[in-house]
Amino acid sequence: MRIVVPAGGIGGARFLRGLKKELGVGSDPVGEEPAITVIGNTGDDITLFGLRICPDLDTVMYTLGGGINEEQGWGRADESFTVKEELAAYGMQPTWFGLGDRDVATHIVRAQMMAAGYPLSAVTEALCDRWRPGVRMLPMTDDRVETHVVLDDEAGGRRAVHFQEWWIRHRAALPAREIVGVGAEDATPAPGVLEAIEQADAVLLPPSNPVVSIGSVLSVPGVREALERATVVGVSPIIGGAPVRGMADACLQAIGVETSARAVAEHYGPELLDGWLVDEADEGAAVDGIAVRSLPLYMSDPEATAAIARAALDLAAELEEQRA
Ligand code: GDP
Ligand code: CA
Repeated sequence: MRIVVPAGGIGGARFLRGLKKELGVGSDPVGEEPAITVIGNTGDDITLFGLRICPDLDTVMYTLGGGINEEQGWGRADESFTVKEELAAYGMQPTWFGLGDRDVATHIVRAQMMAAGYPLSAVTEALCDRWRPGVRMLPMTDDRVETHVVLDDEAGGRRAVHFQEWWIRHRAALPAREIVGVGAEDATPAPGVLEAIEQADAVLLPPSNPVVSIGSVLSVPGVREALERATVVGVSPIIGGAPVRGMADACLQAIGVETSARAVAEHYGPELLDGWLVDEADEGAAVDGIAVRSLPLYMSDPEATAAIARAALDLAAELEEQRA
């Protein structure tokens, strides 16, 4: 069985861990059935201190590879911040990005490979040689796509900042007037992305941010069209009208979508989504043209997460059968 999972950071990574558990997938991503291909969001990527940082790819890689800081959900376990302190002592900006010492090594490897001309997909593959995440990890694109957020400025005009500045420095507290994927229009899917979708038995959308994670994967030309031809089942990141963690409501507000399981499904639309899992709190959230099922959606531990993955796989199989 071949499964494709477009993913952001924490929500995507935790779901993937449950999916692997449910399918009994080990640490060898190739030559193993069932096979999971992750299409990672790179819209959050940012260059700081000359280093290309890919927060979502790294969160998935560290989580599945056993190197994640579990409590935090991002960054390395047993992390220290000496490099960050030293950079601050030089007056280097920005100081708001949490760059840990262990993490820096990952970014140095990436920077060196990129300087030598390797595309991000090849760099990701090389990094995964160490972490053995048990999935094939593809960035959504090798091209540079960066999510920027348009904010009001003091002079009554508008200014755009990188998504990370809005999300981390401002804690998404400044109202976003617009969220723009800079470079998305001209991007091409990374090698293997469209093929993986075409060959997939099922595509599962984890409970990732619908705007800046899944939304940015969908913004790469050709990806949405390919997904529309596949059987796609999504897991709602919104439970009872609120994001489970993080500030996805601020992103939804920026694009004029209500923070509810139903509104997110409507936003994806019936062309993209065939099935949609909502929490029991949102039972009865019917959406035209989409098969909705309700079950507990808190990924509280690997068992609970595996049960969510099972439900998504079952619904995908059911819908696939109906199509045949
Ligand atoms: P990020 O890139 O680290 O922000 O992570 P993602 O985009 O993958 O996921 C963030 C989303 O995951 C948020 O909208 C959360 O509401 C959602 N999320 C986090 N934990 C859970 C959970 O246990 N259950 C569900 N259903 N959603 C969750
Ligand atoms: Ca992210």
